[in-house]
Amino acid sequence: MTTTSEDSRDFNSTSLEAKTYAAAITSTVREPMLVLDKNLKIISASNNFCTGFNLDKASIKEKLIFDLNASEWDIPQLREMLDSVRQENKSFQDYELSYESKNFGPRSLLINANPIKVASEERLILISLKDVTVPNPKKTTEGHPFERFQTILANAPAMICILKGPNHVFEIANEPYYQLIGRKDIIGKAVREVLPEVENQGFFEILDEVYATGKPFIGSEVPIQLDVAQETKNSYLDFVYQPIIDKKGAVEGIFVHVIDVTEKVGIRKKVEDNEILLRDLIDTVPAIIWITDKDGYSTYLNENWYEYTGQSTEEAEGFGWLKAVHPEDRANAEQQFKKANNNRIPFSVNYRLRTSEGDYRWVMDRGQPKFSGDGSFEGIVGTVVDVHEEKIQEQLIREKEHRIRSIVEEATVATAVYTGRDLKIELANDAMIELWGKDPSVIGMNLEDALPELEGQPFIGLLQEVYTTGNTYWGKEDKVDLMIGNKLQTGYFNFTYKPLRDENGNIYGILNMAIDVTEMVKSKNLLKESESHFRQMADLMPEKVTNTDPEGKFIYFNEHWFNYTGYTSEELYTNFWSLFHPDDLERAQKSWNESLKTGNNFEIEVRFKNSFGKYRWHLSRAEAVKNENGRIKMWIATNTEIHKLKEEEKRKEEFLKMVSHELKTPVTSIKGYVQLLLTLLDSGKDVSTSQLPLKPSLDRIDHQITRLTRLISEMLDLSRLEENKLELQKEKFSINDLVTETVQDINYTNTQHRISIEHEYKCDVFADRDRIGQVLINFITNAIKYSPESRDIGIKISKAKNDQVSVNVRDQGIGIDKKNHKNIFKRFYRIGGKSEETYSGFGIGLYLANEIVERHEGAISVKSKKGKGSDFCFTLSVAKES
Ligand code: ADP
Repeated sequence: MTTTSEDSRDFNSTSLEAKTYAAAITSTVREPMLVLDKNLKIISASNNFCTGFNLDKASIKEKLIFDLNASEWDIPQLREMLDSVRQENKSFQDYELSYESKNFGPRSLLINANPIKVASEERLILISLKDVTVPNPKKTTEGHPFERFQTILANAPAMICILKGPNHVFEIANEPYYQLIGRKDIIGKAVREVLPEVENQGFFEILDEVYATGKPFIGSEVPIQLDVAQETKNSYLDFVYQPIIDKKGAVEGIFVHVIDVTEKVGIRKKVEDNEILLRDLIDTVPAIIWITDKDGYSTYLNENWYEYTGQSTEEAEGFGWLKAVHPEDRANAEQQFKKANNNRIPFSVNYRLRTSEGDYRWVMDRGQPKFSGDGSFEGIVGTVVDVHEEKIQEQLIREKEHRIRSIVEEATVATAVYTGRDLKIELANDAMIELWGKDPSVIGMNLEDALPELEGQPFIGLLQEVYTTGNTYWGKEDKVDLMIGNKLQTGYFNFTYKPLRDENGNIYGILNMAIDVTEMVKSKNLLKESESHFRQMADLMPEKVTNTDPEGKFIYFNEHWFNYTGYTSEELYTNFWSLFHPDDLERAQKSWNESLKTGNNFEIEVRFKNSFGKYRWHLSRAEAVKNENGRIKMWIATNTEIHKLKEEEKRKEEFLKMVSHELKTPVTSIKGYVQLLLTLLDSGKDVSTSQLPLKPSLDRIDHQITRLTRLISEMLDLSRLEENKLELQKEKFSINDLVTETVQDINYTNTQHRISIEHEYKCDVFADRDRIGQVLINFITNAIKYSPESRDIGIKISKAKNDQVSVNVRDQGIGIDKKNHKNIFKRFYRIGGKSEETYSGFGIGLYLANEIVERHEGAISVKSKKGKGSDFCFTLSVAKES
């Protein structure tokens, strides 16, 4: 097809005959016409041709048709056609040729071409041309297929070119193609020459193959490197190499159709890269990810699923994944999933999933419906997470919680659990709710809201502190005011606030257990009160009171002990035993230890030293206080001062001694005289009465009998007094006469003493004459008895104030020490001392005298000094004149 230089060298071989022939033709026709020789050189051209195509007739001769108009006509299509004419004697009628004219722009020609044979057997080619270029491209395309093709070619978005011959010479290429390869000057050149950089990229080899085999080649997204404007440009191309088959069925060229898909590939690559990245990501997340389509059919499961379950993709596909779910959980999982899918709602279910090792582990499967841009449902995307440990933990916690709950609920001790910083009442048993005076609706409320009365009380603060510090708080008999039945009531509670911790050791709540000890506290207070009452009482008691514990350790001394001993309480606790009289201590301790050992009552008489260092007799008694079980709780001891009693007792003893002595003395004396007389009478001698010492003996006997009688009557009076049977027989009589008569009576037996009476005042008294006489006798006989040295005794009856008469009996005897003045009127009191001991007496005479005078509303008194004599006096009311 190509015109070679060899061909051109043959030009001169065209005969003159042929040239002439050609000239004749061209000059004959009016149409633009050319005659070419076998080498396609112009032999002749018609005028119209030259004018029509703006050529100089002379200059075109001997030129290759393709070289005309600056190679404007070097068109592969034209070459192809002319080659057919030249080599195959083919004729062409209205062959449409469109080309780009440098002067005229796109032109369309209709060409007729015929081989002609001249006489010399030379073959010429006759060509007539008709310019059919129309300015309206529409018309053009409609009119001529070739032009239409050209136009299509020019306007095609694809890159198109036609390569001719085995060397793949560019015959046609459109603008996009030029742009793709970045150069224009390619028509008539071989691809290897035009695109040297494509060598070794496989394209030329494919072209060769297509050319050789006649089989088209379709390349898809094939990368290519082109040098465009001195830069290497990487592109991806979709292309078709379509062999162009000539009429004989031979390949004459290749139609190349290229689409630059660089951008598309780039985007897709990016998408692919992203997808790879996403898949990598999906496969590396520690969760299983699944995607189902709108029918619930599983279309994707990430690698983790297969690894976890050991299922194959085929097994898991569709609804196969359900086979890995535990048989007991499967129906529910399937139902939940289908429900979510049908209703296009989120999905969440826990089930046991079989692992590749065959055991089952709890997983949490959750999905979210997926909608496309236009809102249509596309399926569900979900994740499966292994929650086995959590589930087991949760089960344990639930069990534990259940246990705690049942313990709390069944506990009789009021119990509640508060959770969170807000102290939400998580649970509270009936006992606690009752203690609060509320109802079960408080459960779930914050403590502050449930028990608003706690405001201003320390408990919320204490709970917060327990939450912060983690230290348990123990409340002991804490006072709590609670609103019970619309009334603020005070109670006392023993309780604990114990922090509750989760498995990480973090505090999540507080356990509150409480015991109502109100009654106990109240009775304790009562006890305290009664104890203080008891102490008060003990202090008021005249006794000295002591408490000891069961072991005998002193725990209490009442006020009297302090007063008596002058000790402080401290000193008493330590020095108590030193208070005992040395003679009593051993006995007391022995007895006390015995009581402690046996629990028997303790009773002993001991002497305790008082604050003056004097020992005083006490009756010390202790009794054990026992509890309901009979165990000793403590000892209460009372110590009563019995010193006076003790002394009286002593006096009584002495009195009895004295009485027996006093009774014995006259009886012995009487017996002596009687025996003396009897002995004289029984001597066998006839003794006459006159010879017997009758008078002196009977005198002595009488004296002793008088003494005995007095003794006996005094004792009778005493017992009468004690039994309160001393009755007074009151009468009006002259006190002066009584004194005179009494002295006369006494004088019968009294020979030693001279008794004078001074009637300074004379009057009557209203009294018991005998008893007053008894007083008088006592005064006078004492005066005689206690005046051994002096003989004068004076009696004086005188007027006293307030209509009273006083009787004084005065002696010059031994007298009485002032300190004994009061005591001598006491029962059995006798003054001790050398001189006094020699006088016999019972110590009841003055006692009786005092009693008698007092019962007459009179008074008795003594004036005396030791060694200076005594003056006893009694006063009585003067009897009113009737
Ligand atoms: P008694 O039988 O011992 O005389 P009294 O009661 O009559 O008993 O007297 C009590 C004591 O008072 C006497 O023991 C004596 O010590 C004292 N006493 C009584 N009268 C006199 C007196 N006139 N002079 C001195 N001492 C007296």
